[in-house]
Parts: sequence; C-alpha cells; structure tokens
Amino acid sequence: MKAPALPAAYGFLASARSGGGRAPHAAFAAHGSLTDIHTSLPDQNLSAVLVHGPETAPEGAQARDADTAVLLAGELYNREALRSVLPPGPEPESDAQLLLHLLRHYGPHAFRLLNGRFAAVVATGRRVLLATDHAGSIPLYARVTPGEVTASTEAKTLSQHRHPRGFPLADARRVPGLPDVYQVPAGTVWDTDLESGTVEAHPVWRPPLSRRIVPEDEAVAAVRAALDEAVAVRVPTGDTPLVVLSGGIDSSGVAACAHRAAGALDTVSMGTDTSDEFAQARAVVDHLGTAHREITVPTADLLAQLPYAVWAAESVDPDIIEYLLPLVALYRELGGPARRILTGYGADIPLAGMHREDRLPNLDTAVAYDMATFDGLNEMSPVLSLLGGHWTTHPYWDRNVLDLLVSLEAGLKRRYGRDKWVLRAALADALPEETVTRPKLGVHEGSGTTSSFSLLLTGHGVAERSVREAKRHVVRELFDLTVVAGRHPSEVSTADTVRSVAERFARGAA
Ligand code: AMP
Ligand code: MG
Repeated sequence: MKAPALPAAYGFLASARSGGGRAPHAAFAAHGSLTDIHTSLPDQNLSAVLVHGPETAPEGAQARDADTAVLLAGELYNREALRSVLPPGPEPESDAQLLLHLLRHYGPHAFRLLNGRFAAVVATGRRVLLATDHAGSIPLYARVTPGEVTASTEAKTLSQHRHPRGFPLADARRVPGLPDVYQVPAGTVWDTDLESGTVEAHPVWRPPLSRRIVPEDEAVAAVRAALDEAVAVRVPTGDTPLVVLSGGIDSSGVAACAHRAAGALDTVSMGTDTSDEFAQARAVVDHLGTAHREITVPTADLLAQLPYAVWAAESVDPDIIEYLLPLVALYRELGGPARRILTGYGADIPLAGMHREDRLPNLDTAVAYDMATFDGLNEMSPVLSLLGGHWTTHPYWDRNVLDLLVSLEAGLKRRYGRDKWVLRAALADALPEETVTRPKLGVHEGSGTTSSFSLLLTGHGVAERSVREAKRHVVRELFDLTVVAGRHPSEVSTADTVRSVAERFARGAA
C-alpha cells in the first residue's frame, strides 16, 4: 500500500446506537468537506459525519465486515510491518481496512501494533472501541450513555448533544465546561458495552520508564536511522513535502531527512514584526537547496488569532496556547491547496531540550515529568493546521523515535556541554555547523509571542506579577466562548477578552 498524499479523513463525529438514528450534525474547526455515513450491523448502527480533504475519497476512512465497522481518522506509518503479520491476501485498500484485518486476527490487541497518527471508532458486536494513537495526537472525546456512544475528534461538536446526560467515568479526564464529555487518554482503547454504557480502559502504550546505556556512536546511529525512517514513511512518493522550519536543530533535522527522502523540499518560516529567526532558517535553506517562503505576521494580527488557537487546540493551558499561536498564524496564512506538512515538534520532550543546565538528575526528572503529563494538552492536534486545510505530522513523536529518545540515558542527551547532544551528533553530517550547534529557541520566544502577549496585558493595567494568572484567565474565557458556547472565533475578540480580564484583576475579583 502506497502512502496516500493525505489521509482519507481528518476527523469525525460518530454515534453508535443500539436503535436507529441519523448522522449527527457537527461544526468542526478543521476545514474540509463533510460526508455523512451510516452502517447497519446486526447489533448496532454506526452513523457519522467525516471531515476530509476536498479531493480525498472518504470511503478510505471506513471498512466493515459482517459484524464490525471501523472508522479511522488519520493514518498509519508501519503499514508494511502490519501487512507482514497478516495471512497473504489482496492488498488492503486503506488504513481502515488494514485495521479491520488486524482486528480479525488479534482482536482489540491489534491496537498494540499500530504506529500512527489516528483516532478510531470500532463498532463490533454489542461493543464500541474508542482508540487513540500512542501520543493521543488526534484528540478523541466521548459521551457515553446506556444505548449510545458518541465520539468526536473535536470536543466542541459534543457540546450541542447535551441530553440525556452521559455516564460519569470516574477516572477519565473531563473537558472543562462540558460536564459529561471525557477525553480518551493517549495510547488507550476504551472498550464500551453499548447496552450498559460501562467502559473498560486498556492502555496499549506507555512511555518507557527505564533508560538504556548505549555506546555513543551506536546511540547516534540509532537516532539517525529512526528519524530517517520516521520521515520517509511520512513522505509519499512523488510528492514534495513541506517543512515548517525555524532553523533550530529539530526542524532542520526533519528538513534534511525529508529532502533526502523526497529529493526536493519546500520550507516555510514565520516571524513577526518584532522578532524572527529568518537568518537561521536561511542557513538551512541554502545548505539543502529548498524552495523557501518567509511569512511575517504583524504582532497585533498574531494576538488577534488567539481565539482560533484555543478553538483548534481545545486546550486551557496558557503556555501551550502560546507555543501554538505562531504556528496557527502560519498555517492560516499559508493558503494554496492542502499540503502535507512535517514539523520538528516535540523533540524537546524526550530530550529535555528546554532544560538548560548540566545536572543529569534534573534532566531525567524533566523527561519523566513531561512524558507523564503531555497527555491532554493537545499540542499535536491536526486541527491546528486544518484551520488552513493542511495536514501536519510530527516525526519526533513517531512511536519508534519517541521510544528510542525517551529511553536513552540522560548522559546521551546532555553531553560535552551541549543540550540534545545525541540528536545534534546524529545530524552533524547533514546540516551546517552553525545549525548543529545553535542553542534552543522556542517558537514562542523566536516570534516574540510570549512577550507581546504579556505586553498586551500590562498595557491594559495588569500588574507584572499577575500576568501569568491573567493569561490563564484569558485562555479559559476564550475556551468557554469558542469550545463550550460554540461561538465562531471570528466573532470572538482577543481585545475584548483581555479588557474584561484586566478589569476583573483591577477590581481584585480574580
Ligand atoms: P520550537 O518551539 O522551536 O521547538 O518549535 C516547534 C516546531 O515548530 C519546530 O520544530 C518547527 O517545525 C516549528 N517552528 C518553530 N518556529 C518556527 C518558525 N519561526 N517558522 C516556522 N516553523 C517554526
Ligand atoms: Mg525553535
């Protein structure tokens, strides 16, 4: 099976019922075409609305046999390995069909085999399986009542379906403001009994807890091989990929591997009128010979897009929204036909790249903490780029790359006074030396997003010491408006929200 240019579906709102029912209505933040589907099985009916690319046939997102229906948003990356464990037969036509075959063969344990970026619903017998990839990189939400399971890749689409109230799921993560909507954890299969509405959670992936001691040259070679492979499976043949390039080691490494895999590469960098990393990106562009574009977003426009970032990420974490905002602005500005975009996102988490000091115990504490708490932040949600109709994928959170990077002992991550040493060494022959040795700069720093958001608040009278807390309030208010109340972000104003939060702080009411 060749890697398709784009996945068959980007997301869905699906409803499994023991009785009949129509396809639910949904307003997704993901920009695409909508298609209704209905599948009648002997013991239940599955109705859904799929969001997919304008030129993509959504049939590829579904597969069925006598008593099982599969719905899959996103894509799988280890197709060849998965095929190799199935009995010989005709080539599966889609990732959904491949998953259906694997389910026949392995039951729900099939999900332990998948390396992908997906969210899936499987209606089978009287059960409904809800599954995420290892990273939960496509968020999946659910409301469960006896006789009906509703699941969606965007929580906001579940806010309109409020009655009857769903079952409380004791240990599951709630969505703020949506009392009976829960998020399926990363790397988990929820096995739901449709009749009773009871849910059993089966983890199918966990971040490695132990660390491997590996000679440095072996570690370097393993990292390079894993990254090369993860990039190659994300680059369809005959297509020129696009890399969002900051000129830091992470995205430059992806660019180098992608250029090698595809033979040609497009790159794009964003900056603002206050700050950019254009010169650093240019060094990589010149070295590799990519077709490059620079996008400058005025700071005022950037901050005005906060409601879009919150609407897309469905996260109430102000730090995460700050990281995501510059890229949201880039994706919305990109235009043109739907592209497959590779990013350097996420390398800092397994390598403790944000941790700027030499002490190894602290470094491994940062890795262990971040790997234990990433879930639910939605940093890798495809909806961010789908605001502009583009599909993103993140090679550093490929399951193989991530397992390897997390498990390397801390002394390989910080070595010879360098952060992310093993990655830098792995890419030394592919990039200019200035790129390989360049210190870490977060996108929220390089674009001036953190400081301009702070200035907006202090400009409205918020005291310096209250800025962090005020940002939390602004983001939560934007979440309540766009996700909970369902307002379109074009009708929600950053300025108004900041003003009302600042007034609340001035009155001492916050
Ligand atoms: P960072 O916070 O620098 O680790 O950024 C995460 C990822 O976002 C990078 O690996 C790039 O793929 C992308 N990125 C960061 N900054 C920019 C930028 N200025 N222009 C384009 N892409 C960027
Ligand atoms: Mg950076």
